[in-house]
Amino acid sequence: MKLLQLLPVGNVDQGLLRDLCPALEQTFRVPCKVLELRLDPEFALHGERQQYHSSQILQRMQSHVSHETWRMLGVAAVDLYIPILTFVFGEAQMRGPTAVMSAHRLRQEFYGLASDKELLRERLLKEAIHELGHTLTLTHCDDYNCAMAPSHAVEWIDLKGSGLCKSCHAAALRTGRPIENVSR
Ligand SMILES: [Zn+2]
Ligand SMILES: [Zn+2]
Repeated sequence: MKLLQLLPVGNVDQGLLRDLCPALEQTFRVPCKVLELRLDPEFALHGERQQYHSSQILQRMQSHVSHETWRMLGVAAVDLYIPILTFVFGEAQMRGPTAVMSAHRLRQEFYGLASDKELLRERLLKEAIHELGHTLTLTHCDDYNCAMAPSHAVEWIDLKGSGLCKSCHAAALRTGRPIENVSR
């Protein structure tokens, strides 16, 4: 069976990735594994912005996709951007197989607040489900409680529930089935 692979990008705590697996397995009904590999994102650093270009990271991730990959989600500690936006929480390939997300702006410390591990875990999970949803061709959802609702600030992430609404979940399972080679 193919795997949902979580790829540490840069100096990110592996424990955070491991904590995501049970809920992701439950949502997408595929086994989840944290890769031993670690992707160094320095090649994607923009010197003036001091941020990392998420599209370049996605591109680099392609070379690590294997026959075992169902989806590969990169989790970065560094801040991500695309040129037209000041920052992104994450970016995904609409038809898969890769997505990347950042923990940088999900930490309370980024906003000058005291660290909150539980809140960080919740935000990471919502963002992981959101980006993986995009790889399954899901678009943004009007249900503000759904993980596929758009978020332009961390407060929006906190408003969401930590799962997909009924219709997004059904769509995710429909489109997300591993593609079988049928020779008939
Ligand atoms: Zn989105
Ligand atoms: Zn939805």
